[in-house]
Amino acid sequence: MTTPLKQPKPIQPMQFIDLKSQLNLIRPAIDAAIKKVLDHGIFIMGPEVFELEKQLSEFCGVKHTISCANGTDALGLVLMAKNVGPGDAVFVPSFTFAATAEVVAWVGATPVFIDSLEDTYNMDPKSLEQGIQTAKKMGLNPVGIIPVDLFGQPADYDAIQAIADTHELWVMADGAQSFGAEYKDRKVGSIGDVATTSFFPAKPLGCYGDGGAIFTNDDELAAIIKSLRVHGQGSDKYDNVRIGMNGRLDTIQAAILIEKLKVFPTELVNRQKTADAYNEALKDIVTVPKLIDGVTSAWAQYTVRLPKNINREQLIAALKESGIPSVIYYVKPLHQQTAYKHYPTATTSNLPVCEALAGEVLSLPMSGYVSDEDAYQVVQTILKLTRS
Ligand SMILES: *Cc1c(COP(=O)(O)O)cnc(C)c1O
Repeated sequence: MTTPLKQPKPIQPMQFIDLKSQLNLIRPAIDAAIKKVLDHGIFIMGPEVFELEKQLSEFCGVKHTISCANGTDALGLVLMAKNVGPGDAVFVPSFTFAATAEVVAWVGATPVFIDSLEDTYNMDPKSLEQGIQTAKKMGLNPVGIIPVDLFGQPADYDAIQAIADTHELWVMADGAQSFGAEYKDRKVGSIGDVATTSFFPAKPLGCYGDGGAIFTNDDELAAIIKSLRVHGQGSDKYDNVRIGMNGRLDTIQAAILIEKLKVFPTELVNRQKTADAYNEALKDIVTVPKLIDGVTSAWAQYTVRLPKNINREQLIAALKESGIPSVIYYVKPLHQQTAYKHYPTATTSNLPVCEALAGEVLSLPMSGYVSDEDAYQVVQTILKLTRS
């Protein structure tokens, strides 16, 4: 018999967002919660949905939480409730996930794309001012702003709210990536006229399917959204008073979220620890994420900006070889994408910051369960490449 070749130690591939460790930790509670729903059998608008809404309202210090089917519907329901439509302009960042602009197009309004800030990658208030002027020149009616809390950090709401007040616009915070974060002692959910989030599995607070929520202190808005969520029903179930949709959150997902909310605060602390470790080790090599004063991040993503001397494709390949996944959020800003190209941008030329960001950013593994060993391996792989 020949001696077998010595095998290299198998590399255990790291998860980009480690949902497995979380499940292992809370599995008995999740199983029990799902079983309870199966036993009572109220799969649509069961007691867990209302319990979750109550807990979320307490968590972020807001009067109304309206759960819904996903984070995109959350944004869309608000635009429907506000009667946004053709001729209206809604200001959205270009450097975001498509849903933020998609919902504006759904209702026939015009998304106007705004550039990003160099340091936080969030909506640039100066570019927002320009966008409002551009919309007016085009004969559009500016109605609202949807700032996005990109990668988990709240946008600069004081600066944005001041502009909104000047032009009498509403502010809807797209907190799909930032649930759990704070802006100057206010929790995401309680910032803006209305806020939304997503419970897509990979978001900071995720369920095991699709889910989302809307948060507001506005009683009237909350009542309209609740009606829209169930086909526009009125006080008499058989007399629909407006055109709505089927936008409810499943009871099973609500039951799962109630269990996940229990470990969420610890996960936020862990995410910050991982970010601190990455920051410390990488700060002299790449541009590490910058948080503005008085703000915390939910760290949906840990995204660095690479200097010219680091080739992004090479780095992605080197990380992959070590079993480390990395993702580019986002390869293309929305204003350059096929479905959105024809919509206006803040200035008629281009959006230089978000176009540069798209070519330079890279997101590293992040979750509430990144081990010290994994963080070390990520850092060492990057250091090795940049030293060679
Ligand atoms: C994920 C996301 C959404 C949409 O959420 P879904 O639940 O996937 O519909 C909206 N906006 C932003 C910024 C997101 O990251």
